[in-house]
Amino acid sequence: MKSNFKNQKVLVRVDFNVPLTQDNKVSDNTRIIKALPTLNYILDNGGSLILMSHLGRPLRKLDPDGNIQKDKFSLKNIIPELEKSLGKHVDFASDCIGKEAEEKAKKLKPGEILLLENLRFHKEETEGDEAFAKKLASLGTYYVFNAFGTAHRKHASTYTIAKFFDKEHKDIGFLVQAELENANKLLNNPQRPFTSIIGGAKVSDKIKLLDKLIELSDNILIGGGMAYTFIKAMGGNIGLSLFEADYVQTARDIMDKAKKKDVNLMLPEDSVISERFSESGDIKTVDSMKIPDEWMALDIGPKAIEKYSNIIHNSKSIMWNGPLGVFEMKKFSKGTFETAKAIAESTKNGAFSLIGGGDSVSAINKSGLSGMVSFISTGGGAMLKYIENKSLPCIDVILEK
Ligand code: AMP
Repeated sequence: MKSNFKNQKVLVRVDFNVPLTQDNKVSDNTRIIKALPTLNYILDNGGSLILMSHLGRPLRKLDPDGNIQKDKFSLKNIIPELEKSLGKHVDFASDCIGKEAEEKAKKLKPGEILLLENLRFHKEETEGDEAFAKKLASLGTYYVFNAFGTAHRKHASTYTIAKFFDKEHKDIGFLVQAELENANKLLNNPQRPFTSIIGGAKVSDKIKLLDKLIELSDNILIGGGMAYTFIKAMGGNIGLSLFEADYVQTARDIMDKAKKKDVNLMLPEDSVISERFSESGDIKTVDSMKIPDEWMALDIGPKAIEKYSNIIHNSKSIMWNGPLGVFEMKKFSKGTFETAKAIAESTKNGAFSLIGGGDSVSAINKSGLSGMVSFISTGGGAMLKYIENKSLPCIDVILEK
């Protein structure tokens, strides 16, 4: 970012979509803390701040009379936490566009902060509407995009708005810069061996990602519900495990491509299975190719954990997305937590590790190892899209690529 914001009213698109308690207090301030370096930098270098964000999906959760639940979705709820984090007073405009916002923005002096009300109170935000984006843009003299988690969505405040600022008056913030730099460590000449660990529920969500990872990785370790569509494609018996019949051929194509490219694509050799989707039934460990008819696989087994951990220990670059089992239930969490542990150990021995968002982030947090990996992405969907395409619309429009 440039070093002088003297007299600039800097419109920053932040991601303050934080979780709130029943009485509307911030219950996890990670997203606010992650925004601070960019916000403090602008304030310290002569600028004032106009902060805009979404919070939840207010238009999808209207009250019984069809009105927005303003109390629940107002960004006003985050002001005490934001003021505490910044150590400064934060003013508020009760609508993100219109007279009040315009007047408050106009009066803003260097060092002062104005927070705008939830952008998603207007349907034009997610529609990427030009007129709405223009009204937002008119509030500031400089635009900074710092909401990495929304970088793949062409919304008014993340994408359309950038068109109203010339190249000298817009930039990405430090949080976005860090996400790109870390992803690029995997995309540009990664240290080898490079191991990708992919879990989660469905193959259908991760086809493009797997396709790209075959180009990049030496090893691909598959776990989670998606593994069983692959195992079925290999002729295995998967019982009641998660299965996507329409993706058997896709799974075969992915395995063929990996073979052709000499990529070591691995499936769990054994699995922890249960009679029902709960911890209360009978549980045992079996060969993943021989799951009995009335049983379902809910975690990778001990042999798979050992093999996967060995490969992870011998890797120099690691990317992880998606849990290897139903980690929300203790009895099926071992595969996921042992994987997290192996990644942390490998990182300690010099590997670069990137946790690519979503449930793997909550898993690494829950395991208490979050400080022992190289980088945890703040944007699951956006990070995966960046790995797939090496480009994101909201960033391209700023860098005018
Ligand atoms: P995703 O959002 O695709 O990363 O999927 C995450 C979800 O996959 C988590 O809620 C896990 O509980 C679930 N999951 C992981 N392994 C399995 C499995 N073997 N069977 C069913 N669900 C699974």
